[in-house]
Amino acid sequence: MATVPALTFTHLPHPSPTSDEVREAAIAAPGFGTVFTDHMVSIDWDEGPDGIGAWHNATIGPRVPIALDPAASVLHYAQEIFEGLKAYRLADGTMALFRPEANAARFNASARRLAMPELPEETFIEAVRLAVAADADWFPTVEGGSLYIRPFMFANEHFLGVRPAKKYKFLVILSPAGNYFKSGAPAVSVWVSDYTRAAPGGTGAAKCGGNYAASLVPTKEAFERGHDQVVFLDAAEHKWIEELGGMNLFFVFEDGTMVTPPLSGTILPGITRDSLIALAREEGLTVREEKYSIDQWQADAASGRLVETFACGTAAVVTPVGRVAGREHDFTIGSGGPGQLTTKLREKLVAIQRGAAEDRHGWVMKLG
Ligand SMILES: *Cc1c(COP(=O)(O)O)cnc(C)c1O
Repeated sequence: MATVPALTFTHLPHPSPTSDEVREAAIAAPGFGTVFTDHMVSIDWDEGPDGIGAWHNATIGPRVPIALDPAASVLHYAQEIFEGLKAYRLADGTMALFRPEANAARFNASARRLAMPELPEETFIEAVRLAVAADADWFPTVEGGSLYIRPFMFANEHFLGVRPAKKYKFLVILSPAGNYFKSGAPAVSVWVSDYTRAAPGGTGAAKCGGNYAASLVPTKEAFERGHDQVVFLDAAEHKWIEELGGMNLFFVFEDGTMVTPPLSGTILPGITRDSLIALAREEGLTVREEKYSIDQWQADAASGRLVETFACGTAAVVTPVGRVAGREHDFTIGSGGPGQLTTKLREKLVAIQRGAAEDRHGWVMKLG
């Protein structure tokens, strides 16, 4: 591949940033995903008449609504991918990202699966850094808060034929996030869905909006039945546990070993998942990436061989699973509350993310 010159970002001044008063109130109790900052990054990609595409028009400017043609392809065929990562505040006050290069690489893996152009990893990271720098004063003031970063890309060629689009927009927006769970998460109750999330050969390993669209009915069903989350089984045999709605799963056994479903192509390769595997192995624990069935899960919970189950992802870090129910299953895990190893791994990861523990893997990228 020919080397292309790095993109230069144009800085557009914000004509009317949020007042200090409104911003300060918002960042004192931000919740999750409802408050947005003043700025955004935007980069366009267009395919030229020669069939060669290029990124251009890179800007960091005010977060404004974007005009879309009603025929914009994303609105019809859902050619869209996204990422989710956080900026954390370290003990010394500086902000840092956690493994942003892993998000950049996964973004491009998703792009390839959705027939979208790849964004150079250094441009992805530069875009994230610029966005965070522009809105550093939106960092939550609540203990344990973070700045949630949402990079995404969609097809915006106006064309109704079915083929990959020739125009795309990449954006980065930011949302101050509160402390999900102050001292460890309460255990959740999960519903084992009859619907499936992803089939072999499908888009399960890509972080695309379409996967989430398909998960909304099963999620709604779980909520209506009084559960907090939905568990998906594999599409072929309807037997093997895959993942929660937007989180990967881990099973902890009495002898201290852990099992997590393998990256078979139908589950999302979580960065939290990968980090926890590394941390657990560092602790001397055995972690096996292998298939685990719903019937075995119930049998092991009943016999006491299985002592903990947790889900993990960027948003909530680690969430213990206390109860599991489905059309043919109903069981409690351990005492039904957060398990010891779940809590220990969570604390270990959070300590690294916040600069309170040594970063042996080079995961933390300090900003500024
Ligand atoms: C994003 C996501 C995860 C978790 O990935 P992290 O990188 O750990 O945040 C798990 N499952 C699905 C379906 C996801 O979209």
